[in-house]
This record gives sequence, C-alpha cells and structure tokens, in this order.
Amino acid sequence: MQITKERVAAIHYTLTDNDGKILDSSAGKDPLYYLHGAHNLIPGMEEGLEGKVKGDKFDIKVSPEKGYGVRDEAAVQQVPMSAFGDNQVQVGMQFRAGNQGEFIVTVTEVSGEMVTVDGNHPLAGVELNFNVEVMEVREATNDEIMHGHAHGPGHSH
Ligand code: ZN
Repeated sequence: MQITKERVAAIHYTLTDNDGKILDSSAGKDPLYYLHGAHNLIPGMEEGLEGKVKGDKFDIKVSPEKGYGVRDEAAVQQVPMSAFGDNQVQVGMQFRAGNQGEFIVTVTEVSGEMVTVDGNHPLAGVELNFNVEVMEVREATNDEIMHGHAHGPGHSH
C-alpha cells in the first residue's frame, strides 16, 4: 500500500542540517504517525513521502521554502529588558508574542538592558535533510479524516 491522501503512515526519521548536526529524531521513540495530505507535515516531507511503501528507506532534502520558511529579518526586534517583567531573560528562552500570543519569539541575544528576539521559526532558512524509514501505511479511519490528524499510539486530544 502506497502513501497517499487519506492514508496514515508511520515513519521513523532523523533530521540533520547541512553540517550533519542532528536536529530531531524519532530514534528510540514511537514512530511518527501522520495523516497524509492534511498538512500534518511540512510540504517538502509530504512530497517526498508520496507513493512510498512500508519498508522504504530514503533521504528527503527539503528547501526552506518547503520547510519552515525563509528567514524574515523584519521579525528580529530589540526589546527593552523591562518588557519582560520579572523574567530572568536568557538566550534561547521562548515567549509568546502578539495580541493573542499567537506567535513565538526566541531570545537570541541579551546585551545590557536590550534583548534581541527573533520571531522566525528556529528552522526558518535551514535546508533540512531527513533520513526516513516507512514503518506502516494504512487507510485512515473516518475519525482521523474528520479530525485532520492520525490517531497513533499515545495520541490524545
Ligand atoms: Zn483526533
């Protein structure tokens, strides 16, 4: 059975950047279950997985445009330390921002009383190298199609 729309696939994956640094991996955990064609994964992953079958092992190279987007330098801002209240602000910390807390910014620099925050996704602008193994492919259930996601092991709402 091939991976295509309205099927659920389980994959093991390791994600590295172009320097070979491991950014994420499912090794040692349950495989990742996802509903194909429902934007559960970044577009470049769905394209690379389309048509694959259980047991396939392969690499997918994903450009930023089909991954987490290109970097937007306008999303990098300097904010006074006082804006963070009592928080001990450190590089790497993440905060919700925007009127509804709808996006996440990451602290990239603390210099005196000024804090630099970056609203880009941490993987924006990064070419992604996935090594993938397909563990299972099955038809999605009606519930999964209605919900727009897979109900894999450990899934909760
Ligand atoms: Zn659900």
